[in-house]
Amino acid sequence: AGSGKFFVGGNWKCNGTKDSISKLVSDLNSSKLEPDVDVVVAPPFVYIDQVKNSITDRIEISAQNSWVGKGGAFTGEISVEQLKDLGCKWVILGHSERRHVIGENDEFIGKKAAYALSQGVGVIACIGELLQEREAGKTFDVCFQQLKAYADAVPSWDNIVIAYEPVWAIGTGKVATPEQAQEVHVAVRDWLKKNVSAEVASRTRIIYGGSVNGGNCSELAKKEDIDGFLVGGASLKGPEFAVIVNSVT
Ligand code: PEP
Repeated sequence: AGSGKFFVGGNWKCNGTKDSISKLVSDLNSSKLEPDVDVVVAPPFVYIDQVKNSITDRIEISAQNSWVGKGGAFTGEISVEQLKDLGCKWVILGHSERRHVIGENDEFIGKKAAYALSQGVGVIACIGELLQEREAGKTFDVCFQQLKAYADAVPSWDNIVIAYEPVWAIGTGKVATPEQAQEVHVAVRDWLKKNVSAEVASRTRIIYGGSVNGGNCSELAKKEDIDGFLVGGASLKGPEFAVIVNSVT
């Protein structure tokens, strides 16, 4: 981890019931969490209110997606205004499942990021390459193209955390090695320096996601440019999520 405040997000995805989420929240509420870490959880939309009303103020709430503009006649969508109304401070955008399963493209994701920021909601901006892209030596090209789409759309990087999530590592149990993650994080920082500013490059937190768990987090957290984690599967277990939060070095 570098000098910025460590940031750990739990992406609960499309999991849980009222009962299981109540148990997870009570496990999180009774966990000891390192004070100098930003801790965020992203419940499914329908449970955000339940979680916000029962979880410790120590943990902030994120949404897993948001509509691209002001709410209105957009059946099935959830607006940034509604998320704010429920107390969400963050939204995860550009997650690989939204890119590759739902089909969202760079431009749409960039617009969503810009709109969330315009409403004062922070963005966990995901990027990451597919396995075949890594094998073809295109990891940096893909990440830079995704970064550029955010950079072209957003007026400021003040409220953005970048999540590098290689798609081949998400939900597969195949975690990137600390060296693989560090290499991309350095490249992302360098891209920001060249294309945004040195200041943004040094202060923007770049977190890693992809099969992070209680057993592999501390080796990853030792790397200079890994400023935290975005955690899927392991964030559904309160005690293990706490271990990951506390892996900050
Ligand atoms: C994610 O979906 O953001 C993620 C990193 O999932 P997992 O930890 O399960 O690989």
